[in-house]
Amino acid sequence: MEQKKFKTEVSELLHLIIHSLYSHKEIFLRELISNASDALDKLKYLTLVDPAFKDLQFTPRIDIAFSDDDKKKTLVISDNGVGMAHDDLADDLGTIARSGTKNFLKNLTEDQKKDSNLIGQFGVGFYSSFMVAERVEVVSRKAGTEEAWKWSSTGKGTFTLEEAQRDSQGTTITLHLNEEGDEYANRWALDRLIKRYSDHIAFPIFLEYDQDEYDDKGKKKGTEHKVEQVNSAAALWRRSKSELTADDYNEFYKNTSHDSEDPLYYVHTQAEGANNYTTLFFIPSKAPYDLYHADYKPGVKLYVKRVYITDDEKELLPSYLRFVRGVIDSEDLPLNVSREILQQNRIMSNIRTASVKKILGELKKLAEQNPELYAKIAEQFNRPLKEGLYSDYANRETLLDLVRFKSSEVEGYTSLTAYKERMKEDQKNIYYLAGGNEETIRRSPLLEGYRKKGIEVLLMTDDIDDIVVPSIGTYQEKTLKAINKSGAVDELDKDESKKKSKEGKDVVKKIKKALGERVKDVVVSTRLVDAPAVVVVDDDDMSVQMQQILKSMGQSDMPESTPILEINLDSPVVKKIADTDDETYITDLSQVLLDQALLNEGVMLKNPADFVKRLTALLSR
Ligand code: ADP
Repeated sequence: MEQKKFKTEVSELLHLIIHSLYSHKEIFLRELISNASDALDKLKYLTLVDPAFKDLQFTPRIDIAFSDDDKKKTLVISDNGVGMAHDDLADDLGTIARSGTKNFLKNLTEDQKKDSNLIGQFGVGFYSSFMVAERVEVVSRKAGTEEAWKWSSTGKGTFTLEEAQRDSQGTTITLHLNEEGDEYANRWALDRLIKRYSDHIAFPIFLEYDQDEYDDKGKKKGTEHKVEQVNSAAALWRRSKSELTADDYNEFYKNTSHDSEDPLYYVHTQAEGANNYTTLFFIPSKAPYDLYHADYKPGVKLYVKRVYITDDEKELLPSYLRFVRGVIDSEDLPLNVSREILQQNRIMSNIRTASVKKILGELKKLAEQNPELYAKIAEQFNRPLKEGLYSDYANRETLLDLVRFKSSEVEGYTSLTAYKERMKEDQKNIYYLAGGNEETIRRSPLLEGYRKKGIEVLLMTDDIDDIVVPSIGTYQEKTLKAINKSGAVDELDKDESKKKSKEGKDVVKKIKKALGERVKDVVVSTRLVDAPAVVVVDDDDMSVQMQQILKSMGQSDMPESTPILEINLDSPVVKKIADTDDETYITDLSQVLLDQALLNEGVMLKNPADFVKRLTALLSR
């Protein structure tokens, strides 16, 4: 017998599961049945495509049995699916498949650790059985092999592996129930759980139990051993929409996605005609923690005529919709469809195109009819939808209606449509300010003038806004203008701007001379109220915030754009510059003015010592 240690993250996860999912301990059965169903899917697929398995006699089924002996309560879940070999048992049940888990766990706060939804995102799967069992044994024989192995563990750091017997391929999991679990060694409890959580598993689930038999006089005759199918075993997505309830959809979702929360929304489509297919898509209630990781696995499964094909195909939906989960079931694709075929297949690409249109269209309808619900979706998935703006031109119009932004004038998120409706009659452009976090943006002195004039500015806080938004160009004939770029500078008030430029000609000259190469230009502002100065960039240049973001992401070699300094003639500092001829004084004031403006935008100064020296000189003057 071999004894092995769990990888450290398993021990840690086990601990977390036991403590945070306790109030939902009954989900262990759903998880084990879902694993069994996956194993049956895999073998069924092999019998269709792999000649080695062509002659396998195989009627997929899941069996559940229990012993309610007071001293030894057990629950046994078995399937005749693909099974696991020695190394599969050691690897799959000894580690957590999803990468990034360890880091994620490390970064959880104590409060988050108690949040069952967060933990539920892992697909804790198999390990949840330790909530109800003091020991778990797994006997498995991999399809196509002769040997069977037994994995056994109390869930406390180690597991053992030894040779075992099994007549045919598949997996048998025996739970030696603990006090928390002994209620599940009961026919009615199991019947209820299976119906509740696993009714739509596409394979039959049989429950074995003993039933006492009585004669006419009510005297016990004996017991009969019964095996009864408990679930309805019909692929839910193939059933007619009219006979399905929201509960059905929600249970199905939780069953197949490892999410413990109901989805926010679902879209069920049964298409007939040129292409025959069914799709059932779900929008989860929360963005998965690893949505932005490079190895994120999207959650759409492909079926062909109800036979599971793959969930490992990144191209079933475009990457910006990777948060959508669900099922695509085609009637027209060949069963032995390979990845290469999938990628260039016309049927697949038609389904994909139609699915994207459908999902976005439904979201748009939802946004109009149920804005509260849509707001929840936007809160979680606004960022990936924005990615669609530059990757999916065909659906750009719809996406523009779906993305949401913060604003200088209204609470929460707003849409471009709503912004446009609030625009002043003579306002020509849609104004926005992008880059940095919300707090920094809200404090930007650039907003002062717009606020004063009652012009709304969209505040863009996502890291990709600075890339995505300029690519939008116009929305319903209104140009989107970044207020931290020079193109938006004098639009607030053209006449005043001209007048002020004249007025500030001399001081501008002085500051320009003092700053030299550090600025591209110095201009007089019509929009600053309290702040003495602010930095903007040329229309084609990258904003200083964006440069900062790229730098923080490790991109140090990009060309730097020189800022334009916009000054406020009413500010005492600028007035001081105007009123003096002392060159040192002018230089110190001008340099500090620029450094302050940069700091205000969250930019790290290149030469802080210089800034401090000048500031000290000014303070001690
Ligand atoms: P998940 O199901 O999310 O991958 P689990 O911890 O539940 O995580 O299972 C880990 C892996 O163990 C599965 O991905 C699968 O490869 C294997 N496994 C679990 N149960 C079975 C089973 N009944 N038959 C075959 N393989 C299984």
